[in-house]
Amino acid sequence: MTSHSPNNGLVVQARRVASPPPTDPQTRAEALSVAARALRSAEHVCVLTGAGTSAESGIPTFRDALTGLWSKFTPQELATPQAFEEHPKRVWQWYAARRAMVRAAQPNPGHLSLAALAHRVSHLTLVTQNVDDLHQRAGNRDVVSLHGSLMRARCSAGCPGVIEPDDQQADVPPRCVECGAFMRPDVVWFGEPLPMDLYEAARNAAVACDVFISVGTSNVVEPAASLPWVAAAHGATVIVVNPTMEGQRRGPSVLAVEGPSGVMLPRLIAEAYAGKRPRRADAGGGTAAARTASAVVAPQAPEPVVEHDRLDPSDPPPVT
Ligand SMILES: [Zn+2]
Repeated sequence: MTSHSPNNGLVVQARRVASPPPTDPQTRAEALSVAARALRSAEHVCVLTGAGTSAESGIPTFRDALTGLWSKFTPQELATPQAFEEHPKRVWQWYAARRAMVRAAQPNPGHLSLAALAHRVSHLTLVTQNVDDLHQRAGNRDVVSLHGSLMRARCSAGCPGVIEPDDQQADVPPRCVECGAFMRPDVVWFGEPLPMDLYEAARNAAVACDVFISVGTSNVVEPAASLPWVAAAHGATVIVVNPTMEGQRRGPSVLAVEGPSGVMLPRLIAEAYAGKRPRRADAGGGTAAARTASAVVAPQAPEPVVEHDRLDPSDPPPVT
């Protein structure tokens, strides 16, 4: 049995493992409490993190990092295939500086909470727009890194394989051992599509999950911005954890937990699993078949376009 009620372009389906809240919570504490109940009964949880999560570890967003020597450049002069073609050394040095900054940073309590969450649910899909590998350093495995990793480089001419550049390779991009072309940062630049397999994995998780948690992202830059609404359209409870709810979409199954992720995620997880023992780390996949059977595709669901050639000055760019 399903019941459809169009609202802000979303179609909400009833009968999930974690039911949407019966009433619209009025306060943050209320939202947190409803979110915790949904999380407690969820089998499959999908989390999407964005630049806010990294910012809480002291990693400035791409634009905020354009200071000092770098202040004379625009993101397009540092993070496009054309920029690398014309000024490979400049682009490489920018990313070397970003890498050094990330190496000096540490995962924050938000990252650590998500690592702990992996032991609480039977299936966690962690999708990130961040390129700093802080989730992996916090202990999460199988992270879907939609925008790649600052810590890797790959052949700019397309040879397979990646390397992990060290600090000795900060000045000039190393050469590909196969073809001699420059190695480039293994991140998604403006105007480049997301890796299709990773985006599909993220979208499939959004469709199948019981609870979707959006953390530290303004949910503006497509196509990742559509993922919470894909989840909502397929009946999941969506929890938005962000310092501000400005610009976030609203809907009957969307719970706004306003505040820094390093504060709110530990609270959410503590409340959700109070008195409950952690599952084994390698617990199985839950009732995927049952969920798939109950999933319906909502005709009004926003269809993501796998390209992000749009630059919104108010929003962090796809790379951090
Ligand atoms: Zn090559």
